[in-house]
Amino acid sequence: MTQSAKAPGKSFRKGMSLVQAVRRFSNEERTERWFIQSRWPDGVICPRCGSENIKERPTRKPQPFRCYDCRKDFSVKTGTVMQGSNLSLGTWALAAYILTTNLKGVSSMKLHRDLGITQKTAWHLAHRIREAWEDGSGLFGGTVEADEAYIGGKEHNKHEVKKQHSGRGAVGKAAVAGVKERESGEVRAKVIDNPTGANVQEFVRSHTDWSAMVYTDESAAYHGLNRMRETVNHSAKEYVRGQAHTNGMESFWANLKRGHNGVYHHFSVKHLSRYIKEFAGRHNARPMDTEDQLRGIVSGMVGRTLRYRDLIGAKQSGQPRLV
Ligand SMILES: [Zn+2]
Repeated sequence: MTQSAKAPGKSFRKGMSLVQAVRRFSNEERTERWFIQSRWPDGVICPRCGSENIKERPTRKPQPFRCYDCRKDFSVKTGTVMQGSNLSLGTWALAAYILTTNLKGVSSMKLHRDLGITQKTAWHLAHRIREAWEDGSGLFGGTVEADEAYIGGKEHNKHEVKKQHSGRGAVGKAAVAGVKERESGEVRAKVIDNPTGANVQEFVRSHTDWSAMVYTDESAAYHGLNRMRETVNHSAKEYVRGQAHTNGMESFWANLKRGHNGVYHHFSVKHLSRYIKEFAGRHNARPMDTEDQLRGIVSGMVGRTLRYRDLIGAKQSGQPRLV
Protein backbone atom coordinates (compact mmCIF):
# COMPACT_ATOMS: atom_id res chain seq x y z
CA MET A 1 0.00 0.00 0.00
CA THR A 2 1.56 3.28 -0.99
CA GLN A 3 -1.28 5.67 -0.28
CA SER A 4 -2.82 6.04 3.12
CA ALA A 5 -4.35 8.47 5.58
CA LYS A 6 -5.57 11.86 4.51
CA ALA A 7 -3.37 14.88 5.11
CA PRO A 8 -4.63 18.45 5.54
CA GLY A 9 -5.26 19.98 2.13
CA LYS A 10 -4.53 16.72 0.35
CA SER A 11 -6.55 13.66 -0.40
CA PHE A 12 -3.68 11.26 0.18
CA ARG A 13 -0.23 11.11 1.56
CA LYS A 14 2.16 9.18 -0.60
CA GLY A 15 3.84 6.41 1.27
CA MET A 16 6.88 4.37 0.33
CA SER A 17 6.94 0.62 0.86
CA LEU A 18 9.98 -1.08 2.37
CA VAL A 19 10.65 -2.73 -0.99
CA GLN A 20 10.55 0.66 -2.73
CA ALA A 21 12.87 2.15 -0.09
CA VAL A 22 15.40 -0.66 -0.44
CA ARG A 23 15.35 -0.28 -4.26
CA ARG A 24 15.58 3.49 -4.06
CA PHE A 25 18.62 3.47 -1.76
CA SER A 26 20.45 0.36 -3.03
CA ASN A 27 22.66 2.23 -5.47
CA GLU A 28 25.16 4.44 -3.62
CA GLU A 29 25.66 6.83 -6.53
CA ARG A 30 21.94 7.48 -6.94
CA THR A 31 21.54 7.74 -3.16
CA GLU A 32 24.30 10.36 -3.00
CA ARG A 33 22.45 12.31 -5.72
CA TRP A 34 19.28 12.12 -3.59
CA PHE A 35 21.12 13.37 -0.47
CA ILE A 36 22.75 16.22 -2.44
CA GLN A 37 19.39 17.27 -3.85
CA SER A 38 17.71 17.04 -0.42
CA ARG A 39 20.42 19.03 1.32
CA TRP A 40 21.01 21.64 -1.41
CA PRO A 41 17.80 21.89 -3.48
CA ASP A 42 19.05 25.19 -4.99
CA GLY A 43 22.53 23.95 -5.86
CA VAL A 44 25.56 22.87 -3.87
CA ILE A 45 27.16 25.45 -1.62
CA CYS A 46 30.27 25.12 0.54
CA PRO A 47 29.32 24.03 4.09
CA ARG A 48 32.26 26.03 5.47
CA CYS A 49 32.09 29.41 3.72
CA GLY A 50 28.78 29.32 1.81
CA SER A 51 30.45 29.86 -1.57
CA GLU A 52 28.80 28.62 -4.76
CA ASN A 53 32.18 28.45 -6.46
CA ILE A 54 32.28 24.68 -6.28
CA LYS A 55 33.78 21.98 -8.43
CA GLU A 56 32.30 18.51 -8.42
CA ARG A 57 34.80 15.74 -9.00
CA PRO A 58 33.50 12.85 -11.11
CA THR A 59 36.04 10.54 -9.39
CA ARG A 60 34.69 11.56 -5.90
CA LYS A 61 38.33 11.49 -4.70
CA PRO A 62 39.66 12.67 -2.34
CA GLN A 63 36.21 14.18 -1.75
CA PRO A 64 33.29 14.71 -4.14
CA PHE A 65 33.42 18.53 -3.95
CA ARG A 66 36.03 21.26 -3.77
CA CYS A 67 35.38 24.87 -2.80
CA TYR A 68 37.47 27.31 -4.84
CA ASP A 69 37.04 30.08 -2.27
CA CYS A 70 38.14 28.45 0.98
CA ARG A 71 40.05 25.72 -0.86
CA LYS A 72 38.58 22.91 1.19
CA ASP A 73 37.17 19.58 0.10
CA PHE A 74 33.82 18.31 1.28
CA SER A 75 31.09 15.74 0.81
CA VAL A 76 27.35 15.73 1.42
CA LYS A 77 28.14 14.40 4.93
CA THR A 78 30.34 17.38 5.87
CA GLY A 79 28.83 19.63 8.53
CA THR A 80 26.02 17.20 9.37
CA VAL A 81 25.43 14.46 11.94
CA MET A 82 26.87 12.10 9.27
CA GLN A 83 30.29 13.77 9.31
CA GLY A 84 33.05 11.25 10.00
CA SER A 85 30.68 8.31 9.54
CA ASN A 86 31.95 5.40 7.47
CA LEU A 87 28.44 4.10 6.92
CA SER A 88 27.14 4.23 3.37
CA LEU A 89 24.55 6.86 2.51
CA GLY A 90 22.23 3.96 1.68
CA THR A 91 22.51 2.75 5.28
CA TRP A 92 21.75 6.25 6.58
CA ALA A 93 18.73 6.58 4.30
CA LEU A 94 17.33 3.18 5.21
CA ALA A 95 17.86 3.83 8.93
CA ALA A 96 15.93 7.11 8.55
CA TYR A 97 13.22 5.23 6.64
CA ILE A 98 12.92 2.53 9.31
CA LEU A 99 12.76 5.06 12.17
CA THR A 100 10.28 7.24 10.29
CA THR A 101 7.85 4.49 9.40
CA ASN A 102 7.76 2.67 12.75
CA LEU A 103 5.48 4.76 14.91
CA LYS A 104 6.71 3.31 18.19
CA GLY A 105 10.38 3.56 17.25
CA VAL A 106 12.91 0.81 16.55
CA SER A 107 15.45 -0.70 18.93
CA SER A 108 19.14 -0.60 18.09
CA MET A 109 19.07 -4.41 18.21
CA LYS A 110 16.53 -4.46 15.37
CA LEU A 111 18.47 -1.86 13.37
CA HIS A 112 21.64 -3.88 13.90
CA ARG A 113 19.96 -6.95 12.41
CA ASP A 114 18.12 -5.19 9.59
CA LEU A 115 21.05 -3.08 8.43
CA GLY A 116 23.88 -5.54 9.07
CA ILE A 117 25.88 -3.20 11.30
CA THR A 118 27.03 -3.66 14.91
CA GLN A 119 24.58 -2.80 17.65
CA LYS A 120 26.90 -0.10 18.95
CA THR A 121 26.99 1.53 15.50
CA ALA A 122 23.21 1.15 15.19
CA TRP A 123 22.71 2.81 18.58
CA HIS A 124 24.90 5.78 17.64
CA LEU A 125 23.27 6.00 14.19
CA ALA A 126 19.75 6.08 15.66
CA HIS A 127 20.65 8.80 18.16
CA ARG A 128 22.11 10.92 15.36
CA ILE A 129 18.90 10.55 13.35
CA ARG A 130 16.82 11.50 16.43
CA GLU A 131 18.97 14.60 16.73
CA ALA A 132 18.01 15.50 13.14
CA TRP A 133 14.25 15.47 13.66
CA GLU A 134 12.79 18.93 13.23
CA ASP A 135 11.69 20.64 16.45
CA GLY A 136 8.86 22.59 14.85
CA SER A 137 8.53 26.33 15.11
CA GLY A 138 5.87 28.99 15.51
CA LEU A 139 3.39 29.58 18.31
CA PHE A 140 0.20 27.56 18.64
CA GLY A 141 -3.09 29.44 18.53
CA GLY A 142 -6.75 28.43 18.61
CA THR A 143 -7.51 25.37 20.68
CA VAL A 144 -4.52 23.88 22.45
CA GLU A 145 -4.27 20.92 24.81
CA ALA A 146 -1.60 20.98 27.52
CA ASP A 147 -0.66 17.99 29.63
CA GLU A 148 2.33 16.35 31.31
CA ALA A 149 3.52 12.77 31.43
CA TYR A 150 5.95 10.98 33.69
CA ILE A 151 8.26 8.60 31.91
CA GLY A 152 10.59 5.83 32.93
CA GLY A 153 12.49 6.35 36.06
CA LYS A 154 15.98 5.40 36.92
CA GLU A 155 16.28 1.62 36.89
CA HIS A 156 18.33 1.52 40.04
CA ASN A 157 15.72 3.62 41.81
CA LYS A 158 12.80 1.41 40.88
CA HIS A 159 12.94 -0.47 44.14
CA GLU A 160 13.03 2.75 46.07
CA VAL A 161 10.11 4.16 44.09
CA LYS A 162 8.00 1.14 44.83
CA LYS A 163 8.85 1.39 48.49
CA GLN A 164 7.93 5.07 48.61
CA HIS A 165 4.24 4.51 47.77
CA SER A 166 3.94 8.17 47.03
CA GLY A 167 0.73 7.69 45.05
CA ARG A 168 1.66 10.49 42.64
CA GLY A 169 3.35 8.24 40.12
CA ALA A 170 6.07 10.81 39.60
CA VAL A 171 8.81 9.85 42.01
CA GLY A 172 11.96 8.79 40.21
CA LYS A 173 10.42 9.51 36.83
CA ALA A 174 11.19 12.23 34.33
CA ALA A 175 8.53 14.85 33.65
CA VAL A 176 7.70 15.72 30.07
CA ALA A 177 5.43 18.66 29.28
CA GLY A 178 3.51 18.79 26.03
CA VAL A 179 1.11 20.93 24.05
CA LYS A 180 -0.94 20.01 21.01
CA GLU A 181 -2.63 22.39 18.61
CA ARG A 182 -5.99 20.88 17.65
CA GLU A 183 -6.23 22.40 14.19
CA SER A 184 -2.81 21.37 12.86
CA GLY A 185 -2.49 18.32 15.12
CA GLU A 186 1.11 19.33 15.82
CA VAL A 187 2.77 18.58 19.14
CA ARG A 188 5.64 20.19 21.04
CA ALA A 189 7.07 18.30 23.99
CA LYS A 190 10.02 18.81 26.27
CA VAL A 191 11.63 17.22 29.28
CA ILE A 192 11.17 19.50 32.30
CA ASP A 193 14.03 18.91 34.71
CA ASN A 194 12.30 20.54 37.63
CA PRO A 195 8.55 20.19 36.99
CA THR A 196 7.24 23.01 39.16
CA GLY A 197 4.06 24.83 38.15
CA ALA A 198 6.15 27.81 37.10
CA ASN A 199 8.32 25.71 34.78
CA VAL A 200 5.38 23.84 33.22
CA GLN A 201 3.57 27.16 32.64
CA GLU A 202 6.68 28.70 31.14
CA PHE A 203 6.78 25.81 28.66
CA VAL A 204 3.09 26.26 27.72
CA ARG A 205 3.45 30.04 27.31
CA SER A 206 6.57 29.67 25.18
CA HIS A 207 4.60 27.59 22.63
CA THR A 208 1.24 29.39 22.57
CA ASP A 209 0.12 32.85 21.57
CA TRP A 210 -2.34 35.09 23.40
CA SER A 211 -5.33 33.90 21.38
CA ALA A 212 -4.90 30.27 22.47
CA MET A 213 -7.66 28.54 24.43
CA VAL A 214 -5.79 26.02 26.55
CA TYR A 215 -7.40 22.86 27.86
CA THR A 216 -5.70 21.24 30.82
CA ASP A 217 -6.56 18.87 33.62
CA GLU A 218 -7.22 20.32 37.06
CA SER A 219 -3.61 20.08 38.16
CA ALA A 220 -2.60 23.05 40.27
CA ALA A 221 0.43 23.29 38.00
CA TYR A 222 -1.63 25.34 35.55
CA HIS A 223 -3.12 27.85 37.98
CA GLY A 224 -2.22 31.35 36.86
CA LEU A 225 -1.19 30.27 33.35
CA ASN A 226 -2.04 33.64 31.87
CA ARG A 227 -3.97 32.14 28.96
CA MET A 228 -7.68 31.48 28.45
CA ARG A 229 -8.13 28.10 30.01
CA GLU A 230 -10.70 25.40 30.63
CA THR A 231 -10.11 22.38 32.78
CA VAL A 232 -11.27 18.83 32.64
CA ASN A 233 -11.61 16.98 35.91
CA HIS A 234 -9.89 13.63 35.51
CA SER A 235 -10.38 12.57 39.10
CA ALA A 236 -14.16 12.86 38.72
CA LYS A 237 -14.02 10.67 35.59
CA GLU A 238 -15.03 13.67 33.56
CA TYR A 239 -12.62 12.97 30.77
CA VAL A 240 -14.57 14.65 28.00
CA ARG A 241 -16.87 17.62 28.32
CA GLY A 242 -17.59 18.95 24.85
CA GLN A 243 -14.37 20.43 23.52
CA ALA A 244 -12.74 20.50 26.93
CA HIS A 245 -10.52 17.45 26.86
CA THR A 246 -6.86 16.56 26.53
CA ASN A 247 -7.37 13.34 24.57
CA GLY A 248 -5.02 14.40 21.76
CA MET A 249 -2.12 14.96 24.13
CA GLU A 250 -2.96 11.77 26.00
CA SER A 251 -2.87 9.68 22.85
CA PHE A 252 0.58 11.14 22.11
CA TRP A 253 1.74 10.10 25.60
CA ALA A 254 0.16 6.67 25.14
CA ASN A 255 2.19 6.10 21.97
CA LEU A 256 5.35 7.37 23.64
CA LYS A 257 4.78 5.02 26.56
CA ARG A 258 4.09 2.10 24.22
CA GLY A 259 7.44 2.84 22.57
CA HIS A 260 9.09 3.14 25.94
CA ASN A 261 7.68 -0.10 27.29
CA GLY A 262 7.51 -2.22 24.17
CA VAL A 263 10.42 -1.14 21.98
CA TYR A 264 13.03 0.73 23.97
CA HIS A 265 12.23 -0.93 27.33
CA HIS A 266 13.95 1.89 29.09
CA PHE A 267 14.75 5.44 28.04
CA SER A 268 17.67 6.55 30.11
CA VAL A 269 16.88 10.01 31.45
CA LYS A 270 20.12 11.22 29.89
CA HIS A 271 18.82 10.48 26.38
CA LEU A 272 15.12 11.08 27.03
CA SER A 273 15.02 14.47 25.30
CA ARG A 274 16.28 12.85 22.10
CA TYR A 275 13.53 10.20 22.23
CA ILE A 276 10.99 12.98 22.75
CA LYS A 277 12.40 14.68 19.62
CA GLU A 278 11.94 11.42 17.75
CA PHE A 279 8.32 10.87 18.82
CA ALA A 280 7.27 14.51 18.36
CA GLY A 281 9.15 14.82 15.05
CA ARG A 282 7.59 11.65 13.68
CA HIS A 283 4.13 12.66 14.90
CA ASN A 284 4.35 16.11 13.29
CA ALA A 285 5.61 14.71 9.99
CA ARG A 286 2.80 12.18 9.71
CA PRO A 287 0.68 14.12 7.20
CA MET A 288 3.65 14.35 4.82
CA ASP A 289 4.64 12.01 1.99
CA THR A 290 7.31 9.54 3.15
CA GLU A 291 9.76 11.04 0.65
CA ASP A 292 9.28 14.50 2.22
CA GLN A 293 9.61 13.07 5.73
CA LEU A 294 13.01 11.66 4.75
CA ARG A 295 14.09 14.89 3.07
CA GLY A 296 13.08 16.71 6.28
CA ILE A 297 15.45 14.49 8.25
CA VAL A 298 18.28 15.25 5.80
CA SER A 299 17.77 19.02 6.24
CA GLY A 300 17.64 18.52 10.01
CA MET A 301 21.02 16.77 9.90
CA VAL A 302 22.75 19.95 8.75
CA GLY A 303 24.63 21.93 11.38
CA ARG A 304 24.31 19.23 14.01
CA THR A 305 26.85 16.82 15.44
CA LEU A 306 26.62 14.07 17.99
CA ARG A 307 29.88 12.31 18.59
CA TYR A 308 29.89 8.88 20.15
CA ARG A 309 32.06 10.01 23.03
CA ASP A 310 29.70 12.89 23.79
CA LEU A 311 26.75 10.54 23.61
CA ILE A 312 28.10 8.10 26.16
CA GLY A 313 29.50 10.93 28.29
CA ALA A 314 33.06 11.23 29.50
CA LYS A 315 32.26 10.08 33.01
CA GLN A 316 30.45 6.91 32.09
CA SER A 317 32.45 3.76 32.49
CA GLY A 318 31.86 0.41 30.86
CA GLN A 319 29.28 -0.26 28.19
CA PRO A 320 26.66 2.32 27.35
CA ARG A 321 23.10 1.21 27.81
CA LEU A 322 22.04 0.11 24.36
CA VAL A 323 18.37 0.66 23.70
ZN1 LIG B 1 34.29 27.25 1.03
